[in-house]
Amino acid sequence: MTRRRAEYLCGATHTRNPDQPRTAADGINLCPGCRTALDRHLHTLPELHADVLDSFPTSGTGDGPPVTGSREPPLPYNPAAGDWLAQLRHDLGWLTTLVATSRGITPPQPRPAVQCVWLATHAEWLAAQPDAGPYKDALAGLVGRGYAVVDPARRPLEIGPCVEQLVDEGPCDGTVWVAVRRDGDTTPSVMWCDTCTLELDTTQWNRFGKRYERTTRERMAG
Ligand SMILES: [Zn+2]
Ligand SMILES: [Zn+2]
Repeated sequence: MTRRRAEYLCGATHTRNPDQPRTAADGINLCPGCRTALDRHLHTLPELHADVLDSFPTSGTGDGPPVTGSREPPLPYNPAAGDWLAQLRHDLGWLTTLVATSRGITPPQPRPAVQCVWLATHAEWLAAQPDAGPYKDALAGLVGRGYAVVDPARRPLEIGPCVEQLVDEGPCDGTVWVAVRRDGDTTPSVMWCDTCTLELDTTQWNRFGKRYERTTRERMAG
């Protein structure tokens, strides 16, 4: 590849040091961390969708406001959850239509779990589009707001500053997060950085923890 790197910057929003440009990974319009995040968000959203449905008092099937004019007393309704479901349907419908139309293929069934699995198979194509940044930001926004409407215990916990060294850019300035799953969850517990490609399953946590402590000590000592 001969393209000049200065021309290709990640188009997504970054939570840490948002004004600092991030070089896009080769051939796409996202930095490596945002490319990894795109996959992670598409894996997380179906579980969040199930959690949000479970948060409704009608044991998981109701996802809209009480029927107007119903003689039953209205069920307690969680407007934040309803808004989130509407946004999720809108965004996944929009993205799947975009991919299907652009690539001349059949879109998936309009069910979030199916749509996310389908979109994950087109993640590299999405990442290569001029608007890859806004696509990633939309999915990140859905994940963030999804956690806000489900059980707070389910939200990722912040571990602290990332200590990874990036090949071209020196120390990563991202934040490390951990999501600990409960029995019955479909996705495993995971630790990740929101800026670089760091992503660890539970078998890697012990070794990473030692490295993290050592590097943090070294940085504090200057
Ligand atoms: Zn990025
Ligand atoms: Zn990092």
